[in-house]
Amino acid sequence: MVARGGVEPPTYRFSVDRSYQLSYLAKRCETLPDVTPSHPIASSPQTVGIVGGGIVGLAVAREVVRRRPGTIVTLFEREPRLAAHQTGHNSGVVHAGIYYKPGSLKAQLCARGRDLLKEYAAEHGVPLLECGKLVVAVDPGEMQRFDALEKNARANGVPGLRRLDGAEITEVEPHAFGIAALHSPATAITDYVAVAEALGREIEETGGRVLLGTEVTGVRRVAGGVEVRTEARLDGDGGPTRRGRRPDSTEVWTVDQLVICGGLQSDRLGALVGGPASPRIVPFRGEYMRVAEAKQELVRGMVYPVPDPRYPFLGVHFTRRVDGSLEVGPNAFLALSRSGYGRLSFDARDLGDTLAFGGFWSFARENWRAGVTELRGVLSRRAYMRTAQRYVPEIGAADVVRAGLGLRAQALERDGSLVDDFVIHSGDGITSVRNAPSPAATSSLAIAEHIVERAFGRS
Ligand SMILES: Cc1cc2nc3c(=O)[nH]c(=O)nc-3n(C[C@H](O)[C@H](O)[C@H](O)COP(=O)(O)OP(=O)(O)OC[C@H]3O[C@@H](n4cnc5c(N)ncnc54)[C@H](O)[C@@H]3O)c2cc1C
Repeated sequence: MVARGGVEPPTYRFSVDRSYQLSYLAKRCETLPDVTPSHPIASSPQTVGIVGGGIVGLAVAREVVRRRPGTIVTLFEREPRLAAHQTGHNSGVVHAGIYYKPGSLKAQLCARGRDLLKEYAAEHGVPLLECGKLVVAVDPGEMQRFDALEKNARANGVPGLRRLDGAEITEVEPHAFGIAALHSPATAITDYVAVAEALGREIEETGGRVLLGTEVTGVRRVAGGVEVRTEARLDGDGGPTRRGRRPDSTEVWTVDQLVICGGLQSDRLGALVGGPASPRIVPFRGEYMRVAEAKQELVRGMVYPVPDPRYPFLGVHFTRRVDGSLEVGPNAFLALSRSGYGRLSFDARDLGDTLAFGGFWSFARENWRAGVTELRGVLSRRAYMRTAQRYVPEIGAADVVRAGLGLRAQALERDGSLVDDFVIHSGDGITSVRNAPSPAATSSLAIAEHIVERAFGRS
């Protein structure tokens, strides 16, 4: 079924749309001679499927089209637009590598990804602003954690890192309060939706395909490849690449390699390809507050608390956005849906999966006190801002309105322990990204290099 060595797209058995296939072939004939990958890899698979149009899937698809000339890449995204989930609902921070365990994948790929992302943004006209960040200690009881964090950041080679005392804090952020701070001038902000869209355009311009509104519902290994079953989703508004395709169609594609970057669905997709049951995803919602215009100049860059190493989240922080606005957040509380962004969104299957998972109950037993504190912030703007106000006292509950929320894929082991590092499983033609939490947006271009260089090489 699959034309190896040729330029045809992966074949599919049902609902074959010839006109689409032919126009695709014409497009490849036009675009292939112009493709000049910077680091071609000699032995390439001929057809690669990518599941997920978040920043990680897009970065992997782009890396394949750049590095493996002649490879036919098809990206399947179930939503009608790119970056519809974590990538489009995050803080927009390009992390400098302060927090991650030295030597971990996160530490390595964040450092490389940060540099690649800065170059990428400059080349593609995506806004990226190095406005810097302070990690602030407000209480002497935090100093042990603060010192450990500084040691960690130095081991990770965070560029330009400085330790500041209380007086020096106000030289960087005149309205912030603290007894000590780490200043990371290289921490930046960007628009990750704009990055995702630029990646999508680049993939299509170099001959790859991005299929929106196309959900992967089945995967199985077959002789010499991987069979991928997709269904068109009718619950979105459709997208440009859906035009001309028969709605409600089921298609089966055969590819040589499949890379799964499913974010909040990564455990379910992992199970679909026979991967290990752990880690499992428990969704957490993170709500943001927007600071009133009159007060948004009170913070120049970013102001973060010293994180509690027992939790995976960095704590409510002040973050400037590339449009000039100032946000506070996100908090972290159990979400009742993996895909609903309303305050009361609820999905019976998602909640059922969380409640049926023993790891969640072990986690909840250990962390119920933190959960109660977070719940107060969910219910009351005043409680939410009480924590943030310790760092910038002039911004209180009356100065903010509720903004959007993001849903995080928090990976948990069966015993309830949090999975901190990136987790990528690979073998027999299938690579599955099982944990890509923050700073995966920062690290995305480096995660893509890692997958294409190592995971493809091993499979
Ligand atoms: C509140 C919040 C704040 C954050 N802040 C930052 C930050 O400041 N800096 C940073 O670096 N990181 C941050 N992160 C983390 C970062 O956003 C994520 O790590 C990153 O976006 C993960 O990208 P992804 O492509 O793996 O996942 P996603 O962006 O979630 O994309 C996964 C995609 O897969 C698609 N998909 C799922 N199942 C299927 C299927 N069966 N078929 C087809 N498609 C499917 C989904 O529709 C989705 O579009 C934050 C995350 C959150 C939630």
